[in-house]
Amino acid sequence: RAKNEGRGGYAFYEQAMFEKAEDMRLLEHDVRQALAQDALSLAYQPIVEAQGGRLVAREALLRWNHATRGAISPETFIPIIEDAGLIHRIGDWVIREACAEAAGWSDGARVAVNISAAQLTGAGLAKTVVSALATSGLEPSRLELEVTETIFLGDDAETLASLERLRALGVRLVIDDFGKGYSSFGYLARAHFSKIKIDSMFARGAAEGDRNCLAIVRAILALADGLGVETTAEGIEEEAQAAAMRDLGIDQLQGYLFGRPAFPEHSSVAPLAKRA
Ligand code: C2E
Ligand code: MG
Ligand code: MG
Ligand code: MG
Repeated sequence: RAKNEGRGGYAFYEQAMFEKAEDMRLLEHDVRQALAQDALSLAYQPIVEAQGGRLVAREALLRWNHATRGAISPETFIPIIEDAGLIHRIGDWVIREACAEAAGWSDGARVAVNISAAQLTGAGLAKTVVSALATSGLEPSRLELEVTETIFLGDDAETLASLERLRALGVRLVIDDFGKGYSSFGYLARAHFSKIKIDSMFARGAAEGDRNCLAIVRAILALADGLGVETTAEGIEEEAQAAAMRDLGIDQLQGYLFGRPAFPEHSSVAPLAKRA
């Protein structure tokens, strides 16, 4: 019986894997179609000063409105884009679109763009950034590139060289979701970031008076202070979370409490399909 159950379990597992793989293959086909049909767009979410609430930046967040499935989360489709080898093409479009959009902002806010680990291989990203800044006329210091700690899981030397090339252009490097995954001090010693974004779990915990979360946020803020980098708390949904992070001395806040990701009224760049 045990053997049968085991086999049954295995067969079920295989079936689930097959369906997932099939699902991925279909989605990959759909991503290519989305590219051709301008179904990808960028939403922007405000990042505000913790004291006073002045707007300092907006984060560009990729959106895919699927013809039949509706909105699909970037957490689902970005890995598919990476597997399909489309991350460079889509990533380049995101940078150009975000720079052009931000160049038109009369409030002078910075724009933050998320970058995948796969985009950091080779010198292509720096070339795209140079070209996007030149075309849009955006000041390099108004562009922030957000990377997560996972970029340091691959070839460290190449990653660090890539980051240095970008920083030399005058853009700001931001470490995203800090504390969520593998947080090593090694890369903080060798790469030069302008800002640390503290993962949303810590603001939630801090607001609930969780001693561990409070201690960790204090330690991150002390570290950031010593390194001379700005700090942002992510995922702020409630006033209690904002208050807790303000009390601890955070520089900036981002979350639904201050504004959800929203589409600009009209796009300033030709849609992806009409570009080379
Ligand atoms: P992220 O860079 O950490 O972006 C913040 C995520 O938290 C966004 O999810 C945002 O909509 C969400 N968020 C903001 N405020 C709140 C809040 O108060 N509560 C909650 N529950 N969530 C909040 P989103 O847009 O689904 O993006 C998920 C992730 O996908 C991003 O995490 C980023 O890693 C990735 N991503 C998004 N756009 C791009 C892109 O253009 N390129 C790349 N490579 N990755 C992207
Ligand atoms: Mg981000
Ligand atoms: Mg984040
Ligand atoms: Mg995230």
